[in-house]
Amino acid sequence: MIVVMRPTATQEEVDGVRRIVEEHGLEAFLSVGEERTVIGVVGSDVERVSHLGTLPGVEQVIRISSPYKLASSQHQPERTRVRVNGVELGLGQELVVMAGPCAVESRDQLMETARTVKREGARVLRGGAFKPRTSPYSFQGLGLPALELLHEAHDTYGLPVISEIVDSADVPAFEEHVDIIQVGARNMANFVLLKAVGQSRRPVLLKRGLSATIEEWLLAAEYVLSAGNPNVILCERGIRTFETATRNTLDLSAVPVLRTRTHLPIVVDPSHGTGHRAFVGPMALAGAAVGADGLIIEVHPDPANARSDGDQSLGFEDFGALMDELRRLQFVRSADVEAALAPAVAATGGIEEVRDRIDDLDARLAEMVQERAALALEVQRRRDPDAHGHDVRRERALLERAASGTTGPMTPVELTMIFDALLRASRSVQRRHTQSISRTEDRPAASGSGR
Ligand code: PEP
Ligand code: MN
Repeated sequence: MIVVMRPTATQEEVDGVRRIVEEHGLEAFLSVGEERTVIGVVGSDVERVSHLGTLPGVEQVIRISSPYKLASSQHQPERTRVRVNGVELGLGQELVVMAGPCAVESRDQLMETARTVKREGARVLRGGAFKPRTSPYSFQGLGLPALELLHEAHDTYGLPVISEIVDSADVPAFEEHVDIIQVGARNMANFVLLKAVGQSRRPVLLKRGLSATIEEWLLAAEYVLSAGNPNVILCERGIRTFETATRNTLDLSAVPVLRTRTHLPIVVDPSHGTGHRAFVGPMALAGAAVGADGLIIEVHPDPANARSDGDQSLGFEDFGALMDELRRLQFVRSADVEAALAPAVAATGGIEEVRDRIDDLDARLAEMVQERAALALEVQRRRDPDAHGHDVRRERALLERAASGTTGPMTPVELTMIFDALLRASRSVQRRHTQSISRTEDRPAASGSGR
């Protein structure tokens, strides 16, 4: 912390600041300039003297280290991964799509939605049980029965469920019925609630307050973390600005900004962020592109008749189309890839067994690579020795196929690197062949020259 004194500050005022700093067990370093004195305050809890700004002679107090500690990347450089029932959010993991109705309205509505969003590739089911509505006359949610329905949907469809809490007295019920506790935008600064969910063992998805700065939001996360719960997920859901064309202004720049400040996973909510169905898809794609770890999207079987947030809810078809697009752009893995990978992974026992299978594959790969090289050589043999055996167009097509048709954990870039190496090795084989032919043909002349 740096305390900047006024140019008019007296020696007594400077001494006054220094005395208070030292009384709090902190150190004060004075830098006396021509015009003014600046005091550096160092110690483990400089916040204890945050009132220095009110002392006579003080112009400004500047904080240097972040006021949030546990949420800060300075405190923990490696990114946090939150795991819930086999779903992982955070560094290097696939984009997690959470989807479901704004509010749970009935068993049929919830189950139908759960079945559909699961089929389309969502990994978490959302559904509000307690709705914090702007008007007391609006639908407030079904309450506890809705939590029980979410529990039933979890058991039926195997999807972890997330729901919003509005009262700290409900923590035990949420612990019993849901997998992730959501703290909504309106409660981001409800510190009693934050401390209560901080004592829970369930991960917490903390939405950004309607007018909260990133720092205030991270301090809210700090409440949860410092109460003992390390599994906090931040959710950007739009902030209130002068713009009225959208319900809120979805601040996607918050995602890269947060990446520089915190290790916590980040989810984007394009539903509340825009308030209009037509804008949800594009902003969901943008959220994925900007590097969010997850998306949370409102989906309803009949948005026109939804009891809350129908305007921004996607119908099943629109949600399916959005998931297709997320798959096409490879933010989300397609189901056939999941299925193809599942037996390979599931059928394996211990590490040794997995390693044996890798050795097997390596042996087969080596054979296949040699077979491929032999064929490339054969092509070269059949061609004019002065022409290249490889065909640049075919090579380019192969690399393009590798870049677009990947079906596994390897990224298109990684797969392309492998094929590229293979092509270069094939060309070397072909080149060696043509050089050996030309050497043979040169030989009579070479021997004639006495070499
Ligand atoms: C919700 O997710 O339904 C909700 C009320 O969100 P927010 O707190 O972002 O308004
Ligand atoms: Mn909603």
